Amino acid sequence: MTALVPARPADLAALAALMAGPAPVRFIAGGTDLLLSRRQLPREGLLVDLTAVEGLAGIETGGSDIVIGGATTVAALEVHAGLADRFPALAQAAAECGSVQIRNRATIAGNIANAAPAADLVPVLALAEARLRLVMPGGGRAEVALGDFSAGSGAVIAHVVLPGEKLLPRSAFVKLGPRRDLTISRLNMAAMGEFADGRFGALRLVAGSLGPRPVRLTRAEAALAGRPLAAAPLADFLGALSAEVDAAIPERTSRAWKRQAICGVGLDLIARLCGLSPRGAPFDEVS
Ligand SMILES: Cc1cc2nc3c(=O)[nH]c(=O)nc-3n(C[C@H](O)[C@H](O)[C@H](O)COP(=O)(O)OP(=O)(O)OC[C@H]3O[C@@H](n4cnc5c(N)ncnc54)[C@H](O)[C@@H]3O)c2cc1C
Repeated sequence: MTALVPARPADLAALAALMAGPAPVRFIAGGTDLLLSRRQLPREGLLVDLTAVEGLAGIETGGSDIVIGGATTVAALEVHAGLADRFPALAQAAAECGSVQIRNRATIAGNIANAAPAADLVPVLALAEARLRLVMPGGGRAEVALGDFSAGSGAVIAHVVLPGEKLLPRSAFVKLGPRRDLTISRLNMAAMGEFADGRFGALRLVAGSLGPRPVRLTRAEAALAGRPLAAAPLADFLGALSAEVDAAIPERTSRAWKRQAICGVGLDLIARLCGLSPRGAPFDEVS
């Protein structure tokens, strides 16, 4: 009888050597998705634990790009001061992933590779146009855009790169689920933009749980970009958000409630982006 054999490489060279070998290879990091899904768990071959690979965990925010190791835990993303300073949306999304126990085990690359529509980190990474540095099945290296990563490719995500030139000064994340806390997203949104003297500059918006992959909300961006934070642009923004839902999930039964729910999520998100209360003017006038 064949069996599942565990392996725990200590560095990228040892990992690449395992990947170049003849045995089928599957990977595990925190195990918070893999161990709970009998369907995913392989029965034979090598099960490679990525958590001991040197250099695969850690966050560098000092250079032009932000570079995050694939085995970095969600808890580490939540508390990293440099990340909270340069890209708060990712720290905010991390803070809302599951419980403390889950965040202490779960990793950023596991969230990407698990490819769940409700994943909380993935829309934020899409917002930043993240790139993935991969170790390929033969042991070679490659770099791809987040959207071009195929979860079944057998590649290891070694690092997640947030290109410095894409980052805008403000960012924020908001999620909505069936419970107030410890909830899986039924809808989430991330925003990144410029806001000064009561007026928006450039603005980017991405929604998750609105299809299999994150959806860029260009209509809603156009409703606010370059305009003041006032009731009329916000009303246009809410109309555009509902239109985004109609376009993304025209046939889904969830369309009816999501086209309303996205308005509340959107107002909370803009308030958070601008550092304001969602219950203050001008949000009150359009709620
Ligand atoms: C109770 C509970 C609550 C949760 N709440 C949330 C939540 O609120 N928001 C949310 O987004 N998620 C949530 N999750 C899902 C899960 O915690 C995340 O998706 C987590 O980031 C997965 O990371 P992991 O390291 O545990 O992945 P694992 O379970 O170790 O692996 C998941 C998949 O990713 C692959 N993989 C892991 N690392 C790599 C790598 N470096 N390169 C390539 N492939 C890799 C594995 O082979 C496997 O296919 C929850 C899970 C549980 C059990």
